[in-house]
Amino acid sequence: MAQRKRTPDDFVRVRGAREHNLKDVDVDIPRDALVVFSGVSGSGKSSLAFGTLYAEAQRRYFESVNPYARRLIDQVGIPDVDSIEGLPPAVALQQQRGTPSVRSSVGSVTTLSSLVRMLYSRAGEYPPKQPMLYAEDFSPNTANGACPECHGLGNVYAVTERSMVPDPSLTIREKAIAAWPPAWHGQNLRDILVTLGYDVDTPWRDLPKKDRDWILFTEEQPTVPVYPGFTPKETRAAVRRKEEPAYMGTFMGARKYVRHTFATTQSATMKKRVARFMVGSVCPVCDGKRLKREALSVTFAGLDIAELTALSLDRMADVLRPAAEGRFNEAVSSKTLDRASAKRDTARRVAAGGSAHTGSSDVRRTPNLSEEKRIAAQRLSEDLVDRIATLQALGLGYLAMDRTTPTLSPGELQRLRLATQIRSHLFGVVYVLDEPSAGLHPADSEALHTALDQLRAAGNTIFVVEHDLEMMRRADWLIDVGPEAGQHGGTILYSGPPDGLSKIDESRTRRYLFGEAAPVHRDRRAPAGWLALAHVSRNNLHALDARFPLGVFTAVTGISGSGKSSLVSQALVDLICAHLGTAPEAEEEESEVPTVVQLTTGRIASGAEAIRRLVNVDQKPIGRTPRSNLATYTGLFDHVRKLFAATKAAKARKYDAGQFSFNVAKGRCPTCEGEGFVSVELLFMPSVFAPCPTCHGARYDAKTLEIEFNGKNIAQILGMTVDEALSFFENEAALHRPLALLHDIGLGYLRLGQPATELSGGEAQRIKLATELQRSQRGDTLYVLDEPTTGLHPADVDRLMRQLHGLVDAGNTVVVVEHEMRVVADADWVVDVGPGAGEAGGRIVAEGTPEAVAKAKDSRTAAYLRAVLS
Ligand code: ADP
Ligand code: ADP
Ligand code: ZN
Ligand code: ZN
Repeated sequence: MAQRKRTPDDFVRVRGAREHNLKDVDVDIPRDALVVFSGVSGSGKSSLAFGTLYAEAQRRYFESVNPYARRLIDQVGIPDVDSIEGLPPAVALQQQRGTPSVRSSVGSVTTLSSLVRMLYSRAGEYPPKQPMLYAEDFSPNTANGACPECHGLGNVYAVTERSMVPDPSLTIREKAIAAWPPAWHGQNLRDILVTLGYDVDTPWRDLPKKDRDWILFTEEQPTVPVYPGFTPKETRAAVRRKEEPAYMGTFMGARKYVRHTFATTQSATMKKRVARFMVGSVCPVCDGKRLKREALSVTFAGLDIAELTALSLDRMADVLRPAAEGRFNEAVSSKTLDRASAKRDTARRVAAGGSAHTGSSDVRRTPNLSEEKRIAAQRLSEDLVDRIATLQALGLGYLAMDRTTPTLSPGELQRLRLATQIRSHLFGVVYVLDEPSAGLHPADSEALHTALDQLRAAGNTIFVVEHDLEMMRRADWLIDVGPEAGQHGGTILYSGPPDGLSKIDESRTRRYLFGEAAPVHRDRRAPAGWLALAHVSRNNLHALDARFPLGVFTAVTGISGSGKSSLVSQALVDLICAHLGTAPEAEEEESEVPTVVQLTTGRIASGAEAIRRLVNVDQKPIGRTPRSNLATYTGLFDHVRKLFAATKAAKARKYDAGQFSFNVAKGRCPTCEGEGFVSVELLFMPSVFAPCPTCHGARYDAKTLEIEFNGKNIAQILGMTVDEALSFFENEAALHRPLALLHDIGLGYLRLGQPATELSGGEAQRIKLATELQRSQRGDTLYVLDEPTTGLHPADVDRLMRQLHGLVDAGNTVVVVEHEMRVVADADWVVDVGPGAGEAGGRIVAEGTPEAVAKAKDSRTAAYLRAVLS
């Protein structure tokens, strides 16, 4: 890039940054440039880019708009840094950890929804005599637009005895009513029932129906005296004597509680919790389209708004283009619309026959609109087509506007936000991005580079935390953090134009960037047999036949949206699960609204007998609360607790292993109940976690913390990184192996007590893999991994690959969905899916050794693979 010389004023100057593992670093970062932060996982890239730069920009913003926000910032903490000068306002486009709200969709994230609503309101074709509707009448998220039956959810929910009381053999005291709120609130309801004279110690199924119905379904809310801790008999006596109660408590029926909480809670966790007790089915009134009748009777180009937004963006642009170009009397190709209806999510819209516009009429015309409407239609369509073009340029044209965000990959979501930013025409802003190339085939990355170039050319600064070598090469400036992870990292090894990194010996990035790294595995193994799938249909796969070689390492490639995940993580996993008789993990169990389950059809034609076990190592969180963490998930913590219970001091006090669990009342801190944090609820904001005022995050009571093993108490052990624990527990065989595996897989920097909620999808995936590697290998297991290299530095990718190749050497079969061409080049076999995305994909374009696929003609992967193989 031709550049004038930068002056000191063109830099963001960071002095004394100490957030997390950063070692008091000073660094000058150019503005109006594309800056990539590189380094191995855990080296401190995010601590600098997000934890310091973005956090500081945000703090300044909060302070400037709202002095009240200062209190909030105090709770969340301010970055540990001496000074930052020259920092512009910042926008973070971070990949979300955990699932976003189901009410957001491609349309709402991109703000296309509001334009489309305007289009239907101003320029739609209305039935005779129907008055014109406002834009918000076309939104299922407003009281005006929502279908009155399902309140805009598309599904109707029943809260039933079976859903609320899954195990009727339990008594109320034994928590028969699973739908009740947890902890104190639940006990309160139970104590109220005791006062009211209900039997809480008889199994649920033996209670009279009248009582069961009242407890679950009553709308009454009696307020009665409560005597916590009293037996039913004592309570009855106390009520009779009119004894002073501990407090007055108000009862709420379980169904009322579920509905009320679902409708009003600000907390996504609570919402998910109660959604489990709601049984959903498609709304019979709107057929799942979520809108009131009047809104659905308005059409544009022959489609109602739900039909239009169910089209892929590519098709939607085709439908709108004639109007955008002022060609109002032209027929919209019936082929376009047929494909559109084929694409539709069948389960949700089986009953769509209620609409006059489905079926197979041949030609549809944009109707004869009034002049005024034509002008509006043209302007709005133009704008829509234009915005869609930005999304198409980022390789997202295969998505539909009504696709909910939880079904998108984090990378897709980030690119949607990026496209929206490009359209917003801001300038003088720093965009901070987190691995934007994740999930992108190299062919799609070109579009991403163009988009970032556009943002920068508009006068913005782009900070990217990234592992992709191509992104590093394209950067104006590279900041390499390291050399290793955690306390062995946290220094700036290099800051300057990318070429200069070639002189920095201690950089782990250097070898990869300048092509000096050797392949991990280049001898091809021969398949021991074939696992053949026949007639597979799922998403964009239609009656596809596919085969995977057994006993080798297979990489499945293809551009985003081509159908890799549909084939591997969905169809292959479902069919093998069915064969093994194990249930696939219920995907919607944790979602806020039970979605309609999608099904795979097809069968295994041959080869299934060679597989006895399936391990789907996915990126779903290993737990949703701070209670699950690395140590508990891997089982390490059981051993640690036994070691503590076996110390002299513990024996003298008769402390067993349970004393050292933060999930049991014995030794944990009573204030936070072992969480180490208390959650502070804020109105209209996600709740914030603050350290527990009693134990200050230690999780245990003072007595328990007195017990030490080799000079460390149990809280200090949880505070250790894997690498620290590895040397601390050197002589404990039971701990050494799992710790060594975590280290080998590149997770040595994680703390043992690191809460599951702080882990990225990639970290969660590697923890699962490490747990899996601890098992003895029997050689009959199929391992399925979707993009295991996400979030990994090339050096960490090599470590991971050694482990995966080790599994294959032990006789197992490994299938990965992968974009990283170095990994693909090291595979024994490649299956390339495509050629395009969505309905333009879903076929096997090429299969064979990497060398063979590199020569395939129609493969978008071939050229990139050739470049790595040569
Ligand atoms: P990178 O982005 O290079 O992968 P990070 O900046 O996320 O690395 O992490 C650098 C170090 O800081 C690691 O040792 C990590 O465990 C630690 N760390 C990250 N987040 C936190 C946190 N919220 N609290 C304490 N330590 C953290
Ligand atoms: P890849 O893994 O190659 O990126 P996917 O298998 O995720 O591709 O997607 C293939 C096609 O199926 C795309 O058109 C995508 O939009 C669609 N698709 C994937 N998941 C869902 C879903 N949950 N609901 C509707 N469509 C989906
Ligand atoms: Zn409805
Ligand atoms: Zn506490």
